[in-house]
This record gives sequence, structure tokens and C-alpha cells, in this order.
Amino acid sequence: MPGLEDLYREIILDHYRNPRNRGELPAPPAVRVEGFNPLCGDEIIVFLDVSDDQVVDLRIGGQGCSISQSSASMMSAAVKGKTVAEARAVIRAFKSLMSIHEQRLDGDDSSGADEDAEVKLGDLEALQGVVRFPVRIKCATLSWNTLSQGLDEALAAAAS
Ligand code: ZN
Repeated sequence: MPGLEDLYREIILDHYRNPRNRGELPAPPAVRVEGFNPLCGDEIIVFLDVSDDQVVDLRIGGQGCSISQSSASMMSAAVKGKTVAEARAVIRAFKSLMSIHEQRLDGDDSSGADEDAEVKLGDLEALQGVVRFPVRIKCATLSWNTLSQGLDEALAAAAS
């Protein structure tokens, strides 16, 4: 019987080889946000179509290591179709999974931790082994930070 580590490895490789929601959206109306992780050379581009407080569609571009790209693929599947509030809850839940061994960044809002206990991370739990390799945490969280910035920009655009 394969161990949990093997299963997690399979899930990560599957998302790396067959990335979900890969591509672009016309921007505008979608917002386009880029993230870069200089420690590893990872690049993530998130195209985000938010309307009526819902993540109607998103696409992922960019290139980088298997952790950064598979994390972005899993993220896209996890937040597509969700409301902005639900997407933010998934972001917080994933970042708390990644921050077990990482000092919280200044200004990081952890106040929602309890209410997010019910958030189902599914395949994303495959990335929890990454916390044992602190240098790779930035790879795993890159797309999430980029998405978070994209949500801010989409809401700002909608308000203007
Ligand atoms: Zn990387």
C-alpha cells in the first residue's frame, strides 16, 4: 500500500503535469496580476474575472518549479466559482497550513483562523509536507499571494 507521502507526491506531480485552468483571460475586463519568487525563479500570472462578489473565472500563467506550479493549479480549482469571501477563507486556511513552521508576517490577519477550521483543502493538503523545507514555502504561497492581490484589485476596479 502506498504511503501518504507517495500519494501527496502523485497529487503534486499530477497538477504539475496537467495544470488546471491554465491560460489567459482578456484583461480588462479581467484583472491581471503577476507574482515573482526570486528565491527560486518562480513566476505566476493570475487572470481573475470577479463579478457580483464571485470568482466567475480565473486562469493561471507563468512558469517555475513543480511546487509553485502545482500549488497554483490546485488553488485555481479550489477558488473557481467561489464567492470572494469564500476564496479569502481558502487563502487564509492554506496560508495557515503553510505557516506552521513559519513566523507570521507582519500584518498577517490570523483572526479568521477559527472560522476557517471548516474549510476543506482537499488536494491542497498534499502540499503540507512543504513546510519541512522552509525555502520552498515561498514557492507554495506565491500563487496565493498573487491571487490575494488580484482580489483586492478586482474589488477596487468594481468600486470605481
Ligand atoms: Zn519554486
